Amino acid sequence: MLNVALFGPPGAGKGTQSEFLIKKYNLFYISTGDLLRKEIADGTKIGEEAKSIIAQGGLVSDEIIVQIIEKSITDNPGYNGFLFDGFPRTYIQAYILEGLMIKLNTQLNCLISIELPEEESIQRLLNRGKTSGRSDDNETVIRTRLKEYYEKTIPVLQFYKEKGIYQSVDGRNGIEDVKTDITKIVKQELSKSLLNIVLFGYPGSGRSSQGKALAKQFDLEFIATGELLSKEASENTKLGKKILELYEKGMLEHGIIGQNFPDDIVVQLIEKKFQNLNGAKGFIFKGFPRTLVQSYILDGLLRKHTSSITKVIEIEVPILELIKRLEIRSKTDSKMPYDESMSTIIKRLQYHEERTVPVIKKYTELHGSTIISGEGTFDEVYKRIADEIEFGFKNLR
Ligand code: AMP
Repeated sequence: MLNVALFGPPGAGKGTQSEFLIKKYNLFYISTGDLLRKEIADGTKIGEEAKSIIAQGGLVSDEIIVQIIEKSITDNPGYNGFLFDGFPRTYIQAYILEGLMIKLNTQLNCLISIELPEEESIQRLLNRGKTSGRSDDNETVIRTRLKEYYEKTIPVLQFYKEKGIYQSVDGRNGIEDVKTDITKIVKQELSKSLLNIVLFGYPGSGRSSQGKALAKQFDLEFIATGELLSKEASENTKLGKKILELYEKGMLEHGIIGQNFPDDIVVQLIEKKFQNLNGAKGFIFKGFPRTLVQSYILDGLLRKHTSSITKVIEIEVPILELIKRLEIRSKTDSKMPYDESMSTIIKRLQYHEERTVPVIKKYTELHGSTIISGEGTFDEVYKRIADEIEFGFKNLR
């Protein structure tokens, strides 16, 4: 995800710059000022409370801000991230934003401060007042808004300087120049962040073959826990020996039905991948997480590396077609242990339904997921998934 907060005094051009940012990067726009004006226009209780404070140029309570933000964020998955305008406006709101990011299992990438001298802000707001129709764009209120800004909002910068994600641009430059400066900052941020795709689907839906091909095209590490395990086992490391011991006890790397490899081994293997990224731009996870427990592990693992899930894709194939495919696969070299008989195939599908479908549900609610039809030839399905990734990220790289 790409989460950005635009910062700056009233009149700095946050609204103007937001317009291009949300389009270019497919971000969900949250302007607390706009949300409050909408509450006022709709005559809601919140609007009533906020009305006189805004008219006087003061700041509304953090309580109200949390309510309006919660309301708008939960209803809007499917974007590449959030753009905050006019929030956080107090030191306390910076903490609130941290909490909100944790709840959404993501983090703020950067706070971009558009800097502008006080007198220039006043001039711009007076000019805007001629056409904006905003009752707070008049000289007395403008001065109060700026006083609030310098007293209560400027201290927020310290929070982000300490966090190391504060960036600034000179707001005195023209719109196009500011736009160029902001784009530079965002690009730099994006090059630092990983692209993490979780590929879901029933066994037989083609996750492995598709995932491997996609990983190649998009410069991602393909993570399939079964394969990681057997590779480690063949490398005679300390961990590899442990895995071999488990194999000898009858544990299968591709997880016989209902039996998962100990999570601590799996986590160590994924951690190793993080240490040796070899220039990869992120990960495609397949077959992991397959339980709710593992979904928490993945979230924790990514967060530890200041990263998060970028995209969840589910390949959908009708059950009958899956059974047919697995039956055919059972007669080839790429057969899985559970392909052995019809009853084990059905058990494996059932396991997916009981244990993994809840994980997909969780992620769908949290990040939104994209369902891709897995019917048709390999190339047809591949194109559908690749287009989806391209579409979501064409501007993120
Ligand atoms: P804006 O459209 O961002 O200039 O905001 C207009 C007015 O809405 C401000 O002067 C405040 O009264 C109120 N407001 C907007 N965002 C916030 C916030 N995050 N915290 C407190 N008050 C806010």
